[in-house]
Amino acid sequence: MIGPRNALFKVHTVSCYWSPAWWTPRETASYNPASFQSPIPLEVKSANVSTSQTAFRLAARLDGVGFSDIVKIRNKIMELRASGATVYQFEGGEPYTFTPDYIKEAMARALSENKTRYAPSSGIPELRAAIADKLRERNRIPARDEDVIILNGGMQGLFGAFQSSINPGDEVLVFSPYWTPIKDLIAHCEGKTVLVPTDEARREGFAETLARYSTPKSRAIYYNTPTNPTGVVFTREEAEAVARFARERDLIVIADEAYEDLVYEGEHVSIASLDGMKERTITSFTLSKSYAMTGWRLGYAVATEPWMTGLRKTTLYSTNGVSTPSQWAALAAFTTPSDFLEKNRAAYRERRDLLLAGLNELGLTCQSPAGAFYAFPDVTRIDKDSRKAADLLLERAQVATVPGIVFGEHGEGHLRFSFSTSLETIEAGLDSLRRNL
Ligand code: PMP
Repeated sequence: MIGPRNALFKVHTVSCYWSPAWWTPRETASYNPASFQSPIPLEVKSANVSTSQTAFRLAARLDGVGFSDIVKIRNKIMELRASGATVYQFEGGEPYTFTPDYIKEAMARALSENKTRYAPSSGIPELRAAIADKLRERNRIPARDEDVIILNGGMQGLFGAFQSSINPGDEVLVFSPYWTPIKDLIAHCEGKTVLVPTDEARREGFAETLARYSTPKSRAIYYNTPTNPTGVVFTREEAEAVARFARERDLIVIADEAYEDLVYEGEHVSIASLDGMKERTITSFTLSKSYAMTGWRLGYAVATEPWMTGLRKTTLYSTNGVSTPSQWAALAAFTTPSDFLEKNRAAYRERRDLLLAGLNELGLTCQSPAGAFYAFPDVTRIDKDSRKAADLLLERAQVATVPGIVFGEHGEGHLRFSFSTSLETIEAGLDSLRRNL
């Protein structure tokens, strides 16, 4: 007898996914691999595909891992655009500029020189050395070449960092609002995300607040500065307080410095540069935001043992390294004299100031983001429910944003506006809000 658990049944159709029709270059520009879920299932006929309820089940370790809500918002925007509507897009999360020519030229050179074979899984020695120099000079992290690993974007560094340090049941203290994929990276380790409200920590003190949320199961702190989605840049004193707490409680710090080059006020302090922190910190960096290279998937991490072994293993058995010519292009980013970073920062600051002035004038009060490229105004005067507020802005003013609740409960009552767009879009979006809100 075939019991219900192992019964075999035949299906004559399988669902598969196909590049959707809206997959144009402009839309690709806002594609976030962390949250991608193709929205259009396409039914195709297939002969004799057999499945069993026991075998055709996703591995349990992926059960708690989700997809971001942002994709649903994006799909709605795509629908609107496809119907011919104008949409002022503030929901994106990537640079509006293009990769500098000197990096693209280095890529072309690497290809014409046939630098296309396997590289060491942790990265080409030249690039690791150049990055170790950069980490010592700019981040004040006393890195050696062997403390650096080249990765496929910041995401792979964060993935490797959590996988290397978090065991099932471990708790991770996450300042909140926080970048959404973090809870999924923690879930993938069967760890538990414990949200620590950033506002409370800034108001009442970091040591006191962290102490309130930590338990004997606390294992690590996720520390993101400048912060997505609020644009908060933690001060040196705040970094020192977090570092002190980590040392006292023997915690690991997973530092995310994806926006290190977009700081408008204050200074960027790498927590791994503080006393006694290099050994207990895994820091993830990326070229995505600094050099407008989101699609290249280029990042790196700095860590010592035992974390570096973890990063090497998670890399070796996933991607086995970063594409070789891309690494030669990345080398040009670190070794070519250029004012790209300064000019870029100035351009973002101009956009920030324009958006901030407009939002505050509209009564959508907003603290000035000291870094990254997001404003995070309070929109409770529109609706306390940020999803409803976002829908209202989209429907009435064709202004697309991300509801704050997507970034955790402490983001509720806010909307995330990206100012990584043209000055014209910012002007036009604000104008539409003025006329239609
Ligand atoms: N950290 C934060 C806070 C981010 O916002 C992002 C990108 N949105 C990343 C890390 C990862 O960037 P990437 O994988 O493109 O390098």
